[in-house]
This record gives sequence, structure tokens and C-alpha cells, in this order.
Amino acid sequence: MEPYLLATDLDGTLLPLDDTPEWDAEILRFRRLAMASPRLLLAYVTGRCLECALDGAAGFNLPMPELLVCDLGTSVYRKTGRTYELDPGYRGRLLHAWQGRLARDIAPLLGKIEGLTSRSAETQGEFKQGYYINPGKRGEETVQRVAERLRGAGLDSNLVCSIDVQTGAGLLDVLPAVAAKDHALAYLRDSLAIPHDHIAFAGDSGHDLAVFVSGFNAIVVANTADTVREEARRQAELKGVAHRLYFAGHAYIRGVMEGACHFNLFAGEDA
Ligand SMILES: [Mg+2]
Repeated sequence: MEPYLLATDLDGTLLPLDDTPEWDAEILRFRRLAMASPRLLLAYVTGRCLECALDGAAGFNLPMPELLVCDLGTSVYRKTGRTYELDPGYRGRLLHAWQGRLARDIAPLLGKIEGLTSRSAETQGEFKQGYYINPGKRGEETVQRVAERLRGAGLDSNLVCSIDVQTGAGLLDVLPAVAAKDHALAYLRDSLAIPHDHIAFAGDSGHDLAVFVSGFNAIVVANTADTVREEARRQAELKGVAHRLYFAGHAYIRGVMEGACHFNLFAGEDA
């Protein structure tokens, strides 16, 4: 039996951003579908750390996945019994990309850059160094300087900018260039020998755009912002992968199930 993989973002995709009771029934339906499909592997792909991802899944009564991609794609975990273990193969790739260095070794290289302030220790990861930056133009200049400094040190890096939705603060995360949701997905495909067509990814935001247009089957849930949908459509057409994109008619977990059925992931089930 060849495996299938449903890889889905959590916040705003599988986890609804409004907690109306209607989602409880949908989550039950999702559990039932996942359990009735023994060929299906589940992966939650999230910016959250392992503990926060597991708390979120448990809080919403979601099934515990076989795989977790956490910390913005900088860590892959596999379920072993009742716990999760870091995948050493993926870690090795990231270590290689940063020439044996970890995020804490990168931090001293970025000292004394104007407008760059380190975030608290619990937001940092082994391959994820997080900073506050100013929003807008001044922040962009700071990011430019960070990029120059890293390039100068020969460290191929991926700079992820976002906004803290609660405080409006500008955020910058410095990761190895190979650390991203789409790279992690390709790693899972290759290391678990899952046929490419048996995989689908579901997401809802700009953080998922790279996967939407990476050539994997992708589900764009209906609550995704129009700007992200249009950009996904445009880039997918340019790359010749538009046929891989599925724009779900439903939001959140209902859209994920709709897309998973479209890509035939649930064995013999009518969702
Ligand atoms: Mg999301």
C-alpha cells in the first residue's frame, strides 16, 4: 500500500480563527476520515514550536499527526509511540547549509545593526533566530543590512518578515536558505518514498505561498486573502503548475477536507 500524505498548516487553515461551535462537528468529521484511511499520513506544517503545535492540536481535539514540521520549516519531527523525535536527516541538511553553525552562532554576526532587536529566548530555535524590526521602509533597510552581513559570511539564509498580529510589531526570522515549508515537504516525500501525486498541502496565508506554487498539489482554503490567492494563481501559471492548485469553496478545516477529497487522499470515503 503506497502512502498518501496530507500536509496542512494549522493556524487559519486546520485551526479556525473563529471558535464558533460549527467547527466541532467538522473536526469530528476530519478525525473520522483520517482514521478510516490507513494509507494516509498526516503532517502539520506550522510556524509554531513543537510544544505549541501539540497544544493547539490537542486543544481543538485534532488527531495527533505522524509528522510535524515546526518552527517555520526549521524542524521535522516523527511520531514514535506517544512522543515525537527530531528527524536527524533534516537537521543534518540545515547544519550543512549553515556550514555547521546554529542560530546562536549566527547572532553575534548580526550585532550592532540599527533597528534590529533580538526577541525573547523562547521564540528562538536551533536554526531560527528571531528579531524585532521596524515596520515599513526602515525595517526593509534593516533586513537589507542583515542580508549583506550574512552574505559576507558566506551563509545562505532565508529571511522571513512578518507582522505580529497582536502587537503590530515587525518581525524578522533568520533561517538557513534550505529551511522552508516546501523544502521540508520535499524532504518528507523523498525520505518516506511517497509518490509526488499522493501528496497535498493546505494553507491560508502568505507564509504558504511558496508551497502553493512549488509544484505540490495544494489546497488554498476559502478564507485566504484575495491578494494571496491572486499571487498564487499568477506565480503558479508562470511556473506551469496552475493545475496543481485547488481553490476550495469552503473555509478552514472544511476547505481542507474538500481539497483532500479533490486530490483523492481519503481512501474510499465520501467527504
Ligand atoms: Mg496559517
